[in-house]
Amino acid sequence: MKERIVSGMRSTGKLHLGHYLGVIDNWVKLQNDFESYFFVADWHALTTKYDKTETLKQDVKDVVIDWLASGIDPEVSTIYVQSLIPEIAELNVYLSMVTPQNWVERDPTLKDMAKILRNKEGDAQISYGLMGYPVLMSADIMALNAQNVPVGIDQVAHIEITRDIARRFNNIYKTEFFNEPKPLLNKCSLICGLDGNKMGKSFNNDIKISDDEETTTKKIMTAITDTNRIRKDDKGNPENCLVAYKYWEIFGTKEEKAQVCSGCTTASVGCAQCKRALAEVINKKFAPIREKRRYYEAHPEIVEEIIRTGSDRARCEIQKTVNEVRNIIGMY
Ligand code: SF4
Repeated sequence: MKERIVSGMRSTGKLHLGHYLGVIDNWVKLQNDFESYFFVADWHALTTKYDKTETLKQDVKDVVIDWLASGIDPEVSTIYVQSLIPEIAELNVYLSMVTPQNWVERDPTLKDMAKILRNKEGDAQISYGLMGYPVLMSADIMALNAQNVPVGIDQVAHIEITRDIARRFNNIYKTEFFNEPKPLLNKCSLICGLDGNKMGKSFNNDIKISDDEETTTKKIMTAITDTNRIRKDDKGNPENCLVAYKYWEIFGTKEEKAQVCSGCTTASVGCAQCKRALAEVINKKFAPIREKRRYYEAHPEIVEEIIRTGSDRARCEIQKTVNEVRNIIGMY
């Protein structure tokens, strides 16, 4: 029997290369070795965007299309939408009862969000739903009683609270029902945004998986380079090239990187030429993914079928967990 993994992504709409390299590529590599469940976390999106729901449905579909195009195989992995499975919300209620308030309050992400979500008066705008998101996230994982959760290093604290909640539930109800899930650390490349900061849709510094060749090239031409290299005949230093060479490190072959270094340090290649070559390499890598993406965009009924089938399959498994939890607690 394969061990189970579960992981999700907020319904943020079209995904960018940070999502691809940091998460999806890893899922694609793991999906054959584990019984894999991947979900679009649309309830989590509501924790901060409850007043901006006009694009929510399309955002969910766009996330799924990017996954499928990038190689998540719906015949191998179960793809589902969180809000199509009400039993996750039920489990969230049971877990909320056994989770001490201070466990939730110590979540580092909540503190970061409080800084971002300030109203005009400067007060933190944390809703009850956002406050409880570490428990909802635990419910997402525990609903499938997964043994492993693929995560980045910055999310390990989230898995810790899930382990704590699982342990506490087992202790209170004298059961060994819940696994204490382990973080499965992503082996991935971190990519920064075109301005050198964290890549993000809202920072306007991202390259989308769905961007066409022309858009990608235009965006890459804006990537920060070695700021000391002002004229083409100034010799550059790839180590000081804050974005463009970082991308070469991720996407270039050994030979390409050696060529870039030589062209840069001898000033035989200018930054514009270097970035145009980089755009070509990135466009080549994403060409088959974009082609697949266009196929799914042209066939929304297939995407819908994949979402419905996966959500039904996940719901069956989750119902088993929640029924067992009801029995363990002694619900009516
Ligand atoms: S030539 Fe390439 S590596 Fe060198 S500074 Fe310009 S963009 Fe960066």
